[in-house]
Amino acid sequence: MKSRVYFIAVGNEEEASSVNNKLNALLKESKVLDFIRPGYKVAVKMHFGEEGNTGFVNPAYAAVICGQILKKGCEASLSDTNTLYRGRRLNSEDHLKLAAEHGFTESSMGVKVVIPDDTNKENVSSVDIGQQLIKSAKVCRLYIDADAIVAISHFKGHMLTGFGGAIKNIGMGCASREGKLAQHCDVSPVVYADQCEGCAECEKACPAAAISIINNKSVIDRSKCVGCASCMAVCPTMAMFVDLGSGIKVQEKMAEYAYAVIKEKKNRSAFINFALKINKECDCWGAENPRIAPDAGIFISNDPVSADKATLDLVNKLSGRDVFREAHPDHEGIRHLKYAEGLGLGNLDYELISL
Ligand code: SF4
Ligand code: SF4
Repeated sequence: MKSRVYFIAVGNEEEASSVNNKLNALLKESKVLDFIRPGYKVAVKMHFGEEGNTGFVNPAYAAVICGQILKKGCEASLSDTNTLYRGRRLNSEDHLKLAAEHGFTESSMGVKVVIPDDTNKENVSSVDIGQQLIKSAKVCRLYIDADAIVAISHFKGHMLTGFGGAIKNIGMGCASREGKLAQHCDVSPVVYADQCEGCAECEKACPAAAISIINNKSVIDRSKCVGCASCMAVCPTMAMFVDLGSGIKVQEKMAEYAYAVIKEKKNRSAFINFALKINKECDCWGAENPRIAPDAGIFISNDPVSADKATLDLVNKLSGRDVFREAHPDHEGIRHLKYAEGLGLGNLDYELISL
């Protein structure tokens, strides 16, 4: 059976107040948030944007969604997770400050803004999924403990996954840094020797005694490394980096992680894609990057695969070309949607209902 995806068109650079009215109408008419019951703990997942990048979803739109969720009589939080790579989203303290600078605060959103500190293992859940690539997914506990998930995703291009929407937001975005590392590479981080100052903070943080300081540089013994990413969190010079590995494997692992996050919430999740400010690269990119398609609108569904497929199809149709494949010719993004469908996360076939 086809899944329903509800859509409302938004004009290029349309005023935020007008978009808010449309968003309110879409949420009301689609009824996709109607599964939320009084007393539910709802985790609203989004990306607060990297410093220098303004592609992230406008906080005014997030506030509308949070407001509609609160009206259901539940408890909600708006959240993101920390990153593997250099930037201001590497730890919870700096990430929260950046989120506030981008307009995401408890007072502006009406709900708590939370970024779990995944260096504290109590904030991480191991979810046994026994899939082909991932046996046990490391997900920030907030998303596993929640009764429901609402994913607010900015639809844009991505250097490894072709494009990123709902599946990327929950698969990569809800993972702890250990989980992100597992998706990006087969285990170990890489040390950029020219940036390493030999401070040994990584050696102290490593739970597997996999790091030695040799000639004043950090050296990782890959046979001991368990891929926990603790060393990356403590390195003051950000000399630890992730080996990005192959885009195909990343896409498949990401879909398996999305499965881990929502497998118990199939009837308790909603996915809202904003196909606005469609950039070539993801919101983690620490600079502005080119727009590759005109603004299309907002898509909402209880099926993340359908939400992403409908967004992809309409953006391409309005552009008259496959914009994401053109931007990232080596990365066929549809692969992660097909893989996600194979895992039972949703349908590639959808019915688009335009409001
Ligand atoms: S990822 Fe974890 S186990 Fe591997 S070297 Fe870094 S701290 Fe050690
Ligand atoms: S924490 Fe960073 S700078 Fe210090 S030794 Fe390790 S890799 Fe080098």
